[in-house]
Amino acid sequence: MTADELKHYEALLLKKRETLMHELGYFGEKTISASARDIAGSYPYSEHPADQGTESMEQEQAYKLASREGRFLFHIDEALERIKDETYGTCNSCEGDIGSMRLEAVPHARMCIECKSKEEQDSA
Ligand SMILES: [Zn+2]
Repeated sequence: MTADELKHYEALLLKKRETLMHELGYFGEKTISASARDIAGSYPYSEHPADQGTESMEQEQAYKLASREGRFLFHIDEALERIKDETYGTCNSCEGDIGSMRLEAVPHARMCIECKSKEEQDSA
């Protein structure tokens, strides 16, 4: 992968990371220990179930969001590390190229599509 390509994917990852941080409610000084209420309050979509549930339901939603998005954030950070190491774009499993089409769609991908679908079959 060329330096220009690495820069391109780094920009994609950083953009995704920024969006994710906003969804998670990490603005400026806020730390990872922001409360569930803060996270729920900053969730930007109109289908947020604020008016159709108890507080505990809202908290549950917020925790689900935090864990799903939190994992995504972890994968993005890992991908940024691989860009630094210049191992980005190489399949973790077969060491082949992940391929630009897959990286455009899933810039934090660790495996090529063949290995990924094989893994999903194995674990099913
Ligand atoms: Zn592979």
